[in-house]
Amino acid sequence: MDWQEKQGVMTAAMQPRRRISRRQAINYSIAGAVGIVGVGSLFSFFQHAQEHAQTTGLLEIFKGDAPKGEVWEAWKKRGWVKEGYHYLKLGRNVQCKVCPNNCILEPGDRSHCRNKVNVDGMLYTLAYGDPCSFHVDPVEKKPLFHFLPGSLSFSLATSGCVFRCLNCQNWEISQKKPEETKDPTGTELRFRPPLPASLKYGEMERLSMFPEDVVAVAEALKCPSISYTYSEPTAFYEYAYDTCKIAREHKIKNILVTCGNIDERALRDIGQYVDAAHIDLKGFDNETYWKLNSGSLDAIIEILKTFKSMGTWIELINLVVPTYTDKPDMIARMCDWIVKNLGPDQPIHFSRFHPEHKLAHLPVTPVDILVQAQNIARSAGLHYAYIGNVPGLPNAETTFCPNCRKPVIERDIYAIKLVNLADGKCKSCQTQIAGVWSAF
Ligand code: SF4
Repeated sequence: MDWQEKQGVMTAAMQPRRRISRRQAINYSIAGAVGIVGVGSLFSFFQHAQEHAQTTGLLEIFKGDAPKGEVWEAWKKRGWVKEGYHYLKLGRNVQCKVCPNNCILEPGDRSHCRNKVNVDGMLYTLAYGDPCSFHVDPVEKKPLFHFLPGSLSFSLATSGCVFRCLNCQNWEISQKKPEETKDPTGTELRFRPPLPASLKYGEMERLSMFPEDVVAVAEALKCPSISYTYSEPTAFYEYAYDTCKIAREHKIKNILVTCGNIDERALRDIGQYVDAAHIDLKGFDNETYWKLNSGSLDAIIEILKTFKSMGTWIELINLVVPTYTDKPDMIARMCDWIVKNLGPDQPIHFSRFHPEHKLAHLPVTPVDILVQAQNIARSAGLHYAYIGNVPGLPNAETTFCPNCRKPVIERDIYAIKLVNLADGKCKSCQTQIAGVWSAF
């Protein structure tokens, strides 16, 4: 695929889907410093992890699965290994503190997210400089509707995820090890400006793109932001962290597209460089979260409050999954909580479920349920409630002025059709619309 064709791919990818589909992910794939080293109480750490595993029943530690011998050496030679940030040394064992999974790894073990390993008593990430997918997306595809609308975002992912969502759209990368998406053999390839005239599909798996390369590529493509997306940036924290830091120095914005399952200390650390976050609020009770996503609502809502306290621009998405998260009373409780804790200007996107992964037997979400969810949100007092993945549904993705009710931005899938906004204010009544509007 030559570079011109890649530009074409960008247009072709503007399809009525949220996030990149797994087919797109494959087709388009181009394919410490803050470590907390301490001893602490070994007993309490082990006890915590055991309790967590017992509670969820879903914490997966891959015993003895760290790469060894030639694979480990090849990974190191490529620069795709880096010592983890935010972890504890517990004698020869290690505990990762990046997300609430708090994986404890014995030497030779691999983590729940599949990206981290204990080698000789140190925690390493295998997901550094080795994206399995990258792409140029409209920022509306994240979706972010109130953040630099109409702009492009250089978007990338590695393998791995901290969750096990039954409905995952991108399970072919999120539920894979780095070694299943990348190949460290053969001639090294590095993707950075000047951009290559052509990239052969077979070369993509060998491609390296280190943090400084990502920023240089985003600049070369005139993308004002970089999105850490498609799989889960918490699972490639060190790579995202270093890239965010360099991007900030270059005045490029950073966007996390995340499930929100991140430890508060790790979030505050990377958060100083993050400008916007699109966060999945996947349901509104713990039982559903365990069952559908292997996560905890309690952890996510604390992180939402932390994001808010840091002043990061956030937008929420709620995938309405039939029989799991389509209950009006759950949606009403969620919206009430949002108004109370994040405020009425907090945008929320209700997204239509499509049968995927382990829920391929379920139907798509009926449109009337989505419209009902939007109405519940508006009745609760939320000013900006959208419906995604339903092309052609009137006003599904229109931003209305909360004062005069006139449309201020109309969208058609990812394209902006009408703008009635100046300096972030409604042109009709001068009411400030919440968001980051420098494009207008
Ligand atoms: S980021 Fe990965 S290794 Fe760290 S605690 Fe979470 S799942 Fe475990």
